[in-house]
Amino acid sequence: MTTNCLTKHNKSQDIESSTSKKDKSLLVRRLARRSKWLKTSGGYLDYMRYYNFETSAKFSDDYKADENISSLGRCQHTWWLESRGDETRFRGIGCGHRDVCPLCGPYYQLVLSRESARQMVLVQEALDVAEDIELESYGLKLVLPFHKGVSERIDALLFTGESHIWRDEVDKLYKLVSELVKKWFPGVPFVMSPDYTGESAPTEPHYHFNVYLLPATLEIKGNSVSSSAIQHYFNEGELQLMRLSWRDAQNEAFGLELKEANFNIRYIKTEAQLYHWLRYLYRHSLSDIWRGWRGYHDDTGVLTYQYTKKDVAGRKKVTLEIDREQLSKAFFRLELIPTKFKRIRWYGSLSDGQRGKTMLAFGLEREVRDDDEDITWQYEASFSFVRFDKDGIVLESQDDERQNTGQLLKVFDDKLTYSPSSVKLGRRVVWLEPGGNYARAGPNSSNA
Ligand SMILES: [Zn+2]
Repeated sequence: MTTNCLTKHNKSQDIESSTSKKDKSLLVRRLARRSKWLKTSGGYLDYMRYYNFETSAKFSDDYKADENISSLGRCQHTWWLESRGDETRFRGIGCGHRDVCPLCGPYYQLVLSRESARQMVLVQEALDVAEDIELESYGLKLVLPFHKGVSERIDALLFTGESHIWRDEVDKLYKLVSELVKKWFPGVPFVMSPDYTGESAPTEPHYHFNVYLLPATLEIKGNSVSSSAIQHYFNEGELQLMRLSWRDAQNEAFGLELKEANFNIRYIKTEAQLYHWLRYLYRHSLSDIWRGWRGYHDDTGVLTYQYTKKDVAGRKKVTLEIDREQLSKAFFRLELIPTKFKRIRWYGSLSDGQRGKTMLAFGLEREVRDDDEDITWQYEASFSFVRFDKDGIVLESQDDERQNTGQLLKVFDDKLTYSPSSVKLGRRVVWLEPGGNYARAGPNSSNA
């Protein structure tokens, strides 16, 4: 059986290396195109203008607001031709506004999620290959929604200027959920992050936690690894007990009298699903709004928003009208959250304090990444964006003074790097396969 597992993992590893690079570049390409649409035809900049003037404390200075909006609008307007040895590529210059840019923000989250997912795969390979643990799945996903009244009460603290109390209250939510997960799955490392809203009402508070659990317990003592696989199947009795403990935990913590409380649990069947779930867990808090944005109408101050409702009857598209004031709540909420607040948190042997020890015990190699890694690419020439084509983009070449020359150039997707430059990822530690093979499939090694 171990041999089978090995085969399975080696196979998936190969597929991962070749397809995930492509997946990522397709995702970034989609983000770039969507973002361009939002800013040119979707009315996003019209809305941002209002938002900046009306509600934002950060951009309260008019001049700065204008500057910010125009820099948002110019995101990936300029493209550079760059070279490295025999290779060349065209890379779009991003604006770097991670908080409000629908390209730079999600791109940043995407890179971090992929680094994490890759490391979760490595840990599972190490358990499988080095420790001979037969894993039953690629992990578990959990979604735990809080009672609406609790969300509303805590969320209101942000808007009444009590963001320090908000932070304490949300820390309690983390504690409540993490204690419960530890009780249900003792010794299993996990990561979690809250969503503040739901897809069906993307501006209204509806706090819920998304959790990813490794499919095994994992404890490190000295240099030795102690681990056992967790089952991927739960019977109705076990699920019922979990629901009851979730209900009781909320009743006790908030003085509620809930009769029932539901949550969602699923196991992750494939490596692709693992990447997908971590991408979801890491995603930007405005993702739903950007994805559902169908156009902002400046004259009426209303956003047309669409989402897909899934229930027993199937899938159906629902369209909502969200007025400007309501929409601003979603943007302003994120701005009011204290800057040092850490949204994505790891627990157990993969928590910040223990991860290094755990990864070293598996013989993985430590690498420090920073923003200056792309200096290997050399600037050659500058272009400006003209339009998207089905299979690439049309650019206009610029002279040495960066003036447009009128000369158009079609560049196909395989030469385009949609990853926006200017997005600062910051200093961070990633763990690589022994021997440095990781770079082959690493998110930052991709040209895309
Ligand atoms: Zn940008």
